[in-house]
Amino acid sequence: MPPTTSKREHSLQRPTVIKRFEDYLKRNNLKLTPQRQQVFEKVFSTNEHFSAERLYELLREEEGDGVSRATVYRALEVLAKGGFVETLETGRGEVLYEHKGPNHHDHMVCVECSKIEEFHDERIEELQERAAEAIGFVIVSHVHRLTGLCRACAAQNGSSKQDG
Ligand SMILES: [Zn+2]
Ligand SMILES: [Zn+2]
Repeated sequence: MPPTTSKREHSLQRPTVIKRFEDYLKRNNLKLTPQRQQVFEKVFSTNEHFSAERLYELLREEEGDGVSRATVYRALEVLAKGGFVETLETGRGEVLYEHKGPNHHDHMVCVECSKIEEFHDERIEELQERAAEAIGFVIVSHVHRLTGLCRACAAQNGSSKQDG
């Protein structure tokens, strides 16, 4: 099977996920407040990888000054703790978030322009599983992140090599 760069399908059933989120909140003695719901909706309506600050900005643009930064950050933390979003460290001290979708994928991060490419290769997944199995390790999750230069930055890097 050839490797695929997966554009995420939007096959996620939002009502199911929000129900799961509500259940999770209940188990943790938290409520689905309008603010938490707002954050949830925004997070699940975008396929971007975003920082907490970016999410706050987006919500402010849409909802106005009533949006509190602390509330957004805290709600995002709750989503992360509950496993509804995944974090991605860019390697430059920034943490990005994305909602968990039905399709697992890994990331390539450009160290120059921060562009993120998603990729998925069943062969890599399988090798990881076999490696774990061989030593009786049970995988809960994995993060496979490549850092480097995207095509554009690699090209530019090549052409400006002479200035050191
Ligand atoms: Zn780049
Ligand atoms: Zn991603």
